[in-house]
Amino acid sequence: MRVLDASAFIHGHDPDGPTASIPAVKEELEGGHALRFDAMEGGGMTVHIPDEASLRRITRAAEESGDADVLSETDRRLVAAAFELDATLVTDDYAMQNVAERLDLDVEVIARDGITEEREWQWQCFGCGRVFDEEKDRCPICGSELTRKNPS
Ligand SMILES: [Zn+2]
Repeated sequence: MRVLDASAFIHGHDPDGPTASIPAVKEELEGGHALRFDAMEGGGMTVHIPDEASLRRITRAAEESGDADVLSETDRRLVAAAFELDATLVTDDYAMQNVAERLDLDVEVIARDGITEEREWQWQCFGCGRVFDEEKDRCPICGSELTRKNPS
């Protein structure tokens, strides 16, 4: 089973074998992409609604990996659907890949290479330049704002 995000419908990605998606993805699609969703649903694609317990688990994992602020509600629901269906998540979104890997879910990418290892975010202070491993509202040393740093 593969759980498809919006980019799968936009790229016309139609893998062999059973597929699933969520109602929120269809709401994000327009025109021909939405029609493709309908066609795949008509062809047997499962439209799954994840439950609250799974969503909470995804939120926790996203907070742990530092992706909570970039993960949309739709992203969160997609990861939860893959988690509940024990499916492979098909997405090009790095934050979703990161959270899925934290939950030991299989991830498949469509348009570009996936990440090979989980990225741990860091936050850097605008004022003094210190780097922190966890998000804080303010730098505890100088009180300046922190910005998320993308480790290379
Ligand atoms: Zn500082």
